[in-house]
Amino acid sequence: MRKPSMLMVCCALTLTLVGCNTSNQNETEEADTKPAESKTEQRTETPADVPKNTEDEVVEETPTAEAEPPAEDKPAEEETADEPETEEAPVVEAQPEEEPAQTPSEPLEQNGMANVKLDTLILVNKQVALSADYKPSDLVTANIDFVDTATGERKMLRKEAAQAIEKLMAGAKTAGIDLKGTSAFRSYEYQVQLFNNYVAKDGKEQAMKYSAPPGHSEHQTGLAIDVSSASVGYQLTQSLEQTKEGKWLADNAHTYGFIVRYQRAFEKETGYMYEPWHLRYIGVEHATNVHKTNVPYERYLKQLMD
Ligand SMILES: [Zn+2]
Repeated sequence: MRKPSMLMVCCALTLTLVGCNTSNQNETEEADTKPAESKTEQRTETPADVPKNTEDEVVEETPTAEAEPPAEDKPAEEETADEPETEEAPVVEAQPEEEPAQTPSEPLEQNGMANVKLDTLILVNKQVALSADYKPSDLVTANIDFVDTATGERKMLRKEAAQAIEKLMAGAKTAGIDLKGTSAFRSYEYQVQLFNNYVAKDGKEQAMKYSAPPGHSEHQTGLAIDVSSASVGYQLTQSLEQTKEGKWLADNAHTYGFIVRYQRAFEKETGYMYEPWHLRYIGVEHATNVHKTNVPYERYLKQLMD
């Protein structure tokens, strides 16, 4: 009868507005999975400007004075029952739209030094190094077949990666694929030794062109391993690509948590030539993402941390 409604309408409106505001908030939580630009610049020939660098020098197999302790034959690490791969999704801060999210949840590097907090996602490359005293604390000998020249520490990986390579090798065997490890962990001291050998042989300027200075080898993370097959004489050679073993690796390594780190299509971006033998452990989920989106690891990590 009277008109009590004006005030009530106002109240109701206010409440509605407040309600709207709060319901708006959680729309940004989805990890943003942009489709990778499927820009595969295939290079078939090797023009002069393609980096000749390899992470792994084939000639390295003759270190001069390496007094390594005999490789202790460790029993197989106890298998952890298929632990679920739990990844902490990067915390994505809600950002005002116009600001590109430039604050990674974890920096990839600091002043050219690797961020060890990234754990199994750690980035080490031509620009980003590990310190001289970095040595993973959980190195174990991988219980797989190695070539004879691999001894001592060079058969070691971080525990998680060792277990993964053991599974990979078992899977390979089941598929009739014959692979052996050729080299896994590489200490800073060993890198110094290798680099000095190159400098002695070719001079520093030349050595710098084909070999990274100490600290820049991904093998120092304890998450990288070179593998090869009898069909190429267990050499580290690009012709592994054409063998059934090389093809199996390219198609299946990610299902065990490894990526073929240096792809032909990304030689310029990574600074390394194609290495079908060099596997890097990053865990099944991430390896699968990298494999599917077909991007270099550097680019994947940036997207992940942004
Ligand atoms: Zn390697």
